[in-house]
Amino acid sequence: MVVMKFGGTSVADQAAIERLMAIVRRQRERDVAEGHGRRGPVVVVSALSGVTDRLLGVAAEAGAGDAEGATHTLQGLRARHKTVSEVIADAAERAAAQADIDREFDELERVAEALSVLREVSPRWFDTIAAAGEILSSRLVAAALASHGLDGAWIDARQAVVTNGDHQAAAPKYPETTAQLMALANPLLADGKVPVLGGFVGATEAGVTTTLGRGGSDFSGAIVGACLGAREIQIWTDVDGMLTADPRVVAAPHVVPHLSFAEASELAYFGAKVLHPATIQPAVAQNIPVRILNSKRAEAPGTLITADRPPSDRPLTALASKKHVTVVDITSTRMLMAHGFLRRLFEVFERHKTPVDVVTTSEVSVSVTVDDTRRLPAIVEALSEFAQVDCEPAMAIVCAVGEGLQQDPTLVGHVLQALGDVPVRLLSQAASRRNITFVIPEADVPRALGRLHDHFFAPAGAARA
Ligand code: ADP
Ligand code: ASP
Ligand code: MG
Repeated sequence: MVVMKFGGTSVADQAAIERLMAIVRRQRERDVAEGHGRRGPVVVVSALSGVTDRLLGVAAEAGAGDAEGATHTLQGLRARHKTVSEVIADAAERAAAQADIDREFDELERVAEALSVLREVSPRWFDTIAAAGEILSSRLVAAALASHGLDGAWIDARQAVVTNGDHQAAAPKYPETTAQLMALANPLLADGKVPVLGGFVGATEAGVTTTLGRGGSDFSGAIVGACLGAREIQIWTDVDGMLTADPRVVAAPHVVPHLSFAEASELAYFGAKVLHPATIQPAVAQNIPVRILNSKRAEAPGTLITADRPPSDRPLTALASKKHVTVVDITSTRMLMAHGFLRRLFEVFERHKTPVDVVTTSEVSVSVTVDDTRRLPAIVEALSEFAQVDCEPAMAIVCAVGEGLQQDPTLVGHVLQALGDVPVRLLSQAASRRNITFVIPEADVPRALGRLHDHFFAPAGAARA
């Protein structure tokens, strides 16, 4: 069985859902033709594009006491979902779906009103409100598939994906999630149905709604694929696959046909938004291939991600970048790095639950980058007890990824040469030698990526649909 995850733009409106249905139909036909039988696929969907942002806006408006603003935003969203529900062919099923939409929005309006009186929105309520986007979209898609002869059957992700209670960044509990998914999806699959569930959303064992973090529907797709033992996880989006660089920064990037799991993880972690950073991890654990595909150009081959990949004639595979990073320079107040200095230093970051990305050290100082700066003031205060600390905001991490780096030791030199006069603050190459990572001022990202792309990737045609 195959898991197909469709992102926000792939369920944005009626036309997008029509395309989704054609893609699911083709997969069903292919499964039968290839001898896999009529099992699945399992469909995981994001909220309609832009809806999660709006819902988080509603929560913020309510928190600021602006009940009117929140209600107004919810009215717009209600109307949009009603319009999209016209895609459901059967009149009775469409009426039922519209009644569901009304119920969900009536409830959201009541919640927003109550929260605007309290003028406070806890992370738990943020999650409850944000989760509505995927609950609504998954019900719509299930009903659309059912009414078009594709046997859609809705599964409530809040019953299927069991997580810890870390709101807005919840982590799945795999044994519990596997048990729930099997109990909910297997009978439907055995019955020839197409189970549909919302991505991004889960719940604790006590039934409290959680979310997996922004962009988390990819992660849901991989979790579902791993827990149900899928033979492939497909990520359907609005570009032709993993591109050699962010198409919003570099003019004409091209599709990378084949990536290793390790390359894909590095690229996702360091900013290639097309894949949520946690997506690959469940796929690796079960060795399930992941494919990135374009829902507007379903015939394009996309990017295939597997444990190993065939050698490529390009030394680098792709570039990624992550902005809004702060460099923290920590200099030991004793002249040389005393024994235990590094341990003490990293303990401070650990205590404040703040991950560091790039780390470089010299005889007397350590530089690290952090991208979550919420606890930085407290971190600086704690570090200042034994070190001098300087912070430099508005920096960016640029990462050049490629298995080819292992074979060619001269590549680092070429990368630096291509950068020309772009000032490099930190530079690191990990032992795996699968990436070169460096830190530059945020403002230099376009020219740095442009120069690297020109140097390492020959021009190619447009990659967008
Ligand atoms: P979805 O809603 O389908 O999950 P996202 O917006 O999360 O889609 O991710 C797709 C977007 O990721 C693309 O439209 C593109 O702008 C952006 N992106 C950034 N870096 C890359 C890259 N290296 N390859 C492909 N897309 C990228
Ligand atoms: N809808 C969620 C978001 O916008 C999750 C996702 O689309 O992956 O972050
Ligand atoms: Mg996404």
